[in-house]
Amino acid sequence: MDLGIAGKAALVCAASKGLGRGCAMALAREGCVVTIVARTPGPLETAAAEIRAATGATVTAVAADITTDAGRAAALAACPTPDILVNNAGGPPPGNFRDWEREDWLAAVEANMITPILLIKAVVDGMIERGFGRVVNITSTSVKAPIPILGLSNGARAGLTGFIAGLARETVRHNVTINNLLPGPFDTDRLRSTLVATAKAQNLSLEAVTEARRTANPAQRFGTAEEFGDACAYLCSAQASYITGQNMVLDGGAYPGTM
Ligand code: NAP
Repeated sequence: MDLGIAGKAALVCAASKGLGRGCAMALAREGCVVTIVARTPGPLETAAAEIRAATGATVTAVAADITTDAGRAAALAACPTPDILVNNAGGPPPGNFRDWEREDWLAAVEANMITPILLIKAVVDGMIERGFGRVVNITSTSVKAPIPILGLSNGARAGLTGFIAGLARETVRHNVTINNLLPGPFDTDRLRSTLVATAKAQNLSLEAVTEARRTANPAQRFGTAEEFGDACAYLCSAQASYITGQNMVLDGGAYPGTM
């Protein structure tokens, strides 16, 4: 299926590894001109080179912290008029809310709510003028089914989700859609570090914790960044113009609700 987005400019945040990289790879494969952002230059340049080599796409790498004003300005300087925006950033740390201070909450809200909103604000009117825009926010299944130790994520991402639910209905008449992708367990560095922390906290082996988590999933496996990227590319496609304001769960069926 030709997704009809060849030549579109895509800005993919937090994309040197994991889910963001998967999205950048899939969009590059569809012929988008891709700008990827991450803080650490080495892995970022490696990812850019790998995406270029795999797809032949034009890929620009911007080493910046997307949660800062300066980082967002650098990303937008490299890709001033994106047709596609994939919002992503690192997830907040796990813990007990009794240990979190105001600064912890502000950092989570800054990274996982305010940053995507400010990036959308910067680009959405240009998308409306051009009559095409696709925004995909990478959130988490914690939005639908809160994860107790991830209270910062549950709260900050729910705030973004509420905001998007309203805005997505205003922009769709201009062929600008805004959707959220909700990952369950995907085989990335983030998941691996969570499993290491769980093993340590429960005094179990990493293998035992990994196996328990894997077999608890109806699919009996973790998701891959490639399949996440393919779902993102579809939401960014020309064909997906009637899908907006949705929260698409990708979790191997782990969320048990009927709808
Ligand atoms: P990952 O494999 O650890 O990759 C994170 C990527 O984001 C890296 O490229 C990292 O590069 C970049 N990044 C982090 N903070 C950044 C910042 N402030 N500015 C710019 N780039 C930044 O993580 P992932 O598994 O792909 O997770 C992506 C998002 O999905 C996270 O918010 C995570 O909480 C959420 N999520 C993941 C899962 C899962 O199972 N994997 C499940 C639910 C939700 P640098 O460190 O060099 O900046």
